[in-house]
Amino acid sequence: MEEMHTAKKYKFKAEINKLLDILVHSLYTSREIFLRELISNASDALDKLRFETTRGTEVVNPELPLEIRITINKEDKSITVSDTGIGMNYDEITKNLGTIAKSGTEEFLKMVADSNDATNIIGRFGIGFYSVFMVAKEVIVTSRSYRKDEQPVEWRSDGLGQYEVAILDNKELPRGTSIKVLLKDDAQEFLEQWRLESIIKKHSNFISFPIFVGKEKINTVSAIWKEPKSSITKEQYEEFYEFLSHDTEPPADIIHKSIDAPIQFNSLLFIPKKSDEFFWLDRDNYGLDLYVRKVLIQHKNKDLLPEYLGFVKGVVDSEDLPLNISRETLQENVIFNKIATSITSTVLLYLADKAQNDKEGYENFWKEHGKIFKLGYVDFGNREKYIELLRFNSSFCKDANEVISLQDYVGRMKENQKEIYYSSGPNREAILSNPHIEIFKNKGIEVLCLIDPIDELVINSIGKYKDFSFRSIENADAKALENIKNNERKSEEKKEELSKDDKKHFSSLLAKMKKILGDKVEDVVESQRLVESPACLVSINDGLTSTMEKILRMTNKEIQPSKKRLEINPNNKLISNLLEVFKKDSNDEIIKEVTEQLYYISLLNDGELTDSHHFTSIANKYLEKSSLWYINYSIKENNE
Ligand code: ADP
Ligand code: MG
Repeated sequence: MEEMHTAKKYKFKAEINKLLDILVHSLYTSREIFLRELISNASDALDKLRFETTRGTEVVNPELPLEIRITINKEDKSITVSDTGIGMNYDEITKNLGTIAKSGTEEFLKMVADSNDATNIIGRFGIGFYSVFMVAKEVIVTSRSYRKDEQPVEWRSDGLGQYEVAILDNKELPRGTSIKVLLKDDAQEFLEQWRLESIIKKHSNFISFPIFVGKEKINTVSAIWKEPKSSITKEQYEEFYEFLSHDTEPPADIIHKSIDAPIQFNSLLFIPKKSDEFFWLDRDNYGLDLYVRKVLIQHKNKDLLPEYLGFVKGVVDSEDLPLNISRETLQENVIFNKIATSITSTVLLYLADKAQNDKEGYENFWKEHGKIFKLGYVDFGNREKYIELLRFNSSFCKDANEVISLQDYVGRMKENQKEIYYSSGPNREAILSNPHIEIFKNKGIEVLCLIDPIDELVINSIGKYKDFSFRSIENADAKALENIKNNERKSEEKKEELSKDDKKHFSSLLAKMKKILGDKVEDVVESQRLVESPACLVSINDGLTSTMEKILRMTNKEIQPSKKRLEINPNNKLISNLLEVFKKDSNDEIIKEVTEQLYYISLLNDGELTDSHHFTSIANKYLEKSSLWYINYSIKENNE
């Protein structure tokens, strides 16, 4: 026992207690990963130390080799994981092993609780260390910082609510950290050397410092990204990917590329099969590991690839960067930036090739990673490549899962079609039953169905594909559509024309409707686009579409909804009935109510009805009336 200053007791933060509770009580299947986490922390500490020495910092015990040692003690049933890394002083150990630094931990914990296999999640959110309590009844951490004049410290806890920290008097304790794990009764399997070896081989084989169990070195310590492609087996790639990503499935794609001139670098990249369910919650977790001559400079560097390619995992290693480059100045380094540009275009070219030659594979890719990929609309430098890689659902697709490229769309545009038409809505059914789409169906014009809210932002930001600009069907100009022929079959169904007399009455009805609606609409006009529905609202000229308006209103309250034109379809039965009423008595109350109702229904169709009170009260009133008519006419007639 070391002579100690009195230990100070601290309570764990509530979220740590919650985490410990979940770890200990619900996650049995992956208990062995505690070792992976301790080794990964040791490796991080060694990386940090190496980083300090390469930039000339003076450290305690400079003669110590950089390595990780695991010892087994069968007497007190413990294993100890030691490293010669940067270590921790009193304040660091108290903070690092007593709090969780990251935000979003709450949500994260909920997800951990729902899953019973933690392999994939532990190690994120800075909670890897605590996984040790899955197997430990007590943990004792001793540590000495790499800085001179720091005293060694001891941290201990049984994982039940509190921990103790004390300063040690031992002047001889070498630099680094030792973690002694006193194993629970049901975790004695980890006292077996072969068991530890197999865990290390499985999860930590690619750690770049030697790991010893007893006297034996277990891991291979090879930088496979620097080796020629032909010498690496698929299994090795997959093993490395698992090590890197903690993914339980093999990767969908492996992109291994080495370049010698003008700048030397090796890159080994992977695209996971499944999207990362925590991506939006844990925005820190993406990025590539950057090495310089096999020395890790930065974990999860975020500047080698843009965020929209954040699903890519991998490593980049360059001979041409200085070893002592600091993370802060990386972004200003010309060579670094050239490497980043080259890697981005490598990934985009790879995807383009996949889209061409492996359609099904690309569709899977899109399903999993498309949501993140769409964020690429801000990458002006790679716009052309980006646009070709986009996929959308369209009215020509057989269901909501099928997607097409813009090239597909343009390839089957109708004669005289000058624009790419799209419609946005909460789902495909809503879009396909929107009155605005009727004329497009009739003419056999394809319409992109934008279901993801970001789709319309993407479309607006790219503006054009080849020579064709995008046009929402809400704003489509009926004249532009006139030049496009109807489908042959459809054109045979001739519209019934209004008589000359009725035409006159119809325009007076429209005027009356405008008067009823007043300022709510810009105008009320006869529709050229509706085939079945009685009415719809149309933005005037290049007004914002309803989705864009909604997005803008979310961010800027000042935006007033733009006024729209109400279009009325004279061929619709409701409208011809209304015309009959109007001819008899132009001031009949029903005209006012139906007009208002048509307006509300059109708003509802566009997802714009904010005050539903009016709408429902009129609807209820007419349901009541019609039920009475039903009793009077239909039921009585049948009984007679
Ligand atoms: P993460 O590794 O994601 O930061 P952990 O829960 O695994 O989260 O570890 C928490 C922190 O404890 C680390 O960030 C590090 O500062 C510190 N730590 C853990 N193990 C060691 C070690 N062997 N040497 C030095 N510091 C360590
Ligand atoms: Mg860790």
